Amino acid sequence: MISYEQPLYRPPCEAGSLIIQVTLGCPHNRCTFCGMYKMKKYQVRDAEEVKADLRKARIIYSYVESIFLADGNTIAMNSEKLAEIIAYARELFPETKRVSSYGGGRFLKGKSPEALKRLAEAGLDTIYFGLETGDDYILNKVNKGVTSSEMVKAALKVKEAGIVLSVYILLGLGGERFWRQHAENTAIALNQMQPNYIRPRTLYLLPGTPLHEEKQRGEFEEASGETIMRELRLMLEMLEVEESYFLSDHVSNYIPVYGLLPRDKGKMLEMIDQALSEPDRYLAPRILTHL
Ligand code: SF4
Repeated sequence: MISYEQPLYRPPCEAGSLIIQVTLGCPHNRCTFCGMYKMKKYQVRDAEEVKADLRKARIIYSYVESIFLADGNTIAMNSEKLAEIIAYARELFPETKRVSSYGGGRFLKGKSPEALKRLAEAGLDTIYFGLETGDDYILNKVNKGVTSSEMVKAALKVKEAGIVLSVYILLGLGGERFWRQHAENTAIALNQMQPNYIRPRTLYLLPGTPLHEEKQRGEFEEASGETIMRELRLMLEMLEVEESYFLSDHVSNYIPVYGLLPRDKGKMLEMIDQALSEPDRYLAPRILTHL
């Protein structure tokens, strides 16, 4: 049996991937909106145990299209050790088309361009990067531990190394009060990053997280569905990217806005306008039991 320590998270687009935990938990673990790894203490797993898991997977699966290296912020570990594991996975699974992991700006900012190139050469194709917002006030408020300009620099290093940059943004993170600056500054950061993929998720307040407690105390007003659509619309309008896929592939989103930017911007804006014109149909409060 491949060993997994629950809970286990992966991006929605990695649903069909072989998942191997190289690290456990998140070394930051302090974002006020995030409850993913609150119950786990961050640790880097023993490389020999990880390799043993990879060998077990090779026995179980005759074909592995893609591999996702969990948990949160695997990129934070020693780059040479991670490169060694990636190279080993590539050797065992020569058919694999993509090897990916989460990587936050807080940890990427300290990586040298050479370290990222080494990871790319070993076979790391994609980094899922949590920008969440390009607004420094909100970043500080939610304890992201990194500024917008630091994230832009980190993201550019990822691209420079030849690694696909897939950026997550979190709609609603500014709440009802700061939606406009969230939209504007996120678009500005994305324009500087020029990501290969932009993936919006929508804030859903999980009980037990500090941001949920702020809401309970009346210190955070959650953005309504209509505000979130206005935020998304403004962000999209301001996006000036040469070629980025915009993919609303997360269950938390109100509507599935998809497209290749800039080509599909018009039809994506129309879809948002449609939702805004029929809020009862498209923007009713969400009940999400599992994220
Ligand atoms: S959002 Fe990412 S960086 Fe922040 S605590 Fe959660 S997993 Fe860690």
